[in-house]
Order: sequence, then C-alpha cells, then structure tokens
Amino acid sequence: MENKLPRNVLPKNLMGAIRYLSDPDACLDFIAEMRWPNGVTCPHCGGDRVSYLKTRRIWRCMKGECHKQFSAKTGSIFEESPSRLVLQGEVRKHVKAGAAI
Ligand SMILES: [Zn+2]
Repeated sequence: MENKLPRNVLPKNLMGAIRYLSDPDACLDFIAEMRWPNGVTCPHCGGDRVSYLKTRRIWRCMKGECHKQFSAKTGSIFEESPSRLVLQGEVRKHVKAGAAI
C-alpha cells in the first residue's frame, strides 16, 4: 500500500491514525508499545524471556515452567474485540472531546 506510514512514525491526525491502525501489524505494534514500553513481558508470570512467533502474531513465554502463549491483547480491554476498531473508536472519542491528536 502506498499510503502506509513507516511503522516507527506515528500518525499526526485522525485520518492518519485510522489509516495507520488499519494495518494489523502496525496496530499490534502500537498496542504492544503502549502495553510494554520497556519490552514485552509475559502476562501470566511476568517473565521477560519471551519469543515472538511472527506468523501467528503472538509471543511464547520462555521462562521455567510457564511456556504460555499470549498476544498483545491477552488480559487487556482489547482481548474480546478486533483491536483496531476499539482503537479507532477511542481516537474518535478523543477528537470529539477536543483533544489534540
Ligand atoms: Zn510466563
């Protein structure tokens, strides 16, 4: 897609945000960055030794006996929802409230 932003450049306005979040990989990156700004940790045991399974967009905990798999949405408000739709709804609410995005 030619209108896609580079993954490390966040959008500056609502349309940019909606376009950005329509890419599932960018959306997942965004959620992961918000959730784990200091690096991904296991939501089950808190371990920081994790392995990313790119094809399934999930992580696997590599700590001791845990070895559980999780996504950026596990245990979050996004768990039961298509995350980009939830995020786009949140962006719209902030714009309506007059926040500068
Ligand atoms: Zn774990």
